[in-house]
Amino acid sequence: MKCGKCNEKGVLELQHGILCKSHFITYFENKVFKTIKKFNLIGRNENVCVATSGGKDSLTGLYLTKKFIEKEKLNSEVFALVVDEGISNYREHTIVDLEEFCTEHNIPLKSVSNKEEFGFTLEEAYPIVNKGTKKKPCNICGVWRRYLLNKVSRDFGATKVVTGHNLDDEAQAVMMNIFKANTKLSANLGPISGIKEDKHFVQRVKPLYFCTEKETRLYVLLKGFKVQFTECPFSHIGYRAQMRDMLND
Ligand code: SF4
Repeated sequence: MKCGKCNEKGVLELQHGILCKSHFITYFENKVFKTIKKFNLIGRNENVCVATSGGKDSLTGLYLTKKFIEKEKLNSEVFALVVDEGISNYREHTIVDLEEFCTEHNIPLKSVSNKEEFGFTLEEAYPIVNKGTKKKPCNICGVWRRYLLNKVSRDFGATKVVTGHNLDDEAQAVMMNIFKANTKLSANLGPISGIKEDKHFVQRVKPLYFCTEKETRLYVLLKGFKVQFTECPFSHIGYRAQMRDMLND
């Protein structure tokens, strides 16, 4: 399997041909940069907060946001923000990876935790909040995380919040909205989400919107980012997991 652009060994076959390591990295980065430019996700003199967990998608989003700002000489700042939900044997590992990554790439890292802000970790809260229902921890986790990302990024003066959502995430969200008869919610999807013009909300943007999960995973491996590829212990029980498995099948 040879690269369609040179004679090197191919690493991935896409619809338009086979690419080697170097051409795949260029293809992937250009796709992200084109998305940022086309949808005007990041501009000049911004203070960009990248919501990071230490996982592959958010580290890629963090790395390429910084690279884009430097390449385009935007005079914008970037910092990483992690929410520690309090999920044992999971988040503490990804945070270690994230701290090392931020040190290596000279990116300021801020953190906030559910325990500090709400007085409960996710593991302490969901058995109480969801008692008597069949609801999973994700319903609390997602709401708390979005609340904290907005609040803390605003406290730090952020003008944008970058998230690591990829094309698989968005496809799952579309399907979830259809199956739950919430089709109106799909209107909020896209590279720019959230409420655009309200002083209380920081606009959320998704530079990886057109990158598949498989492409992002390969990019991280080829770049040699230290990522453990661990999954949240609750990730296999939510409604999103059902949609993910169905689409992957
Ligand atoms: Fe939170 Fe659910 Fe994601 Fe785990 S899988 S981090 S509980 S939203």
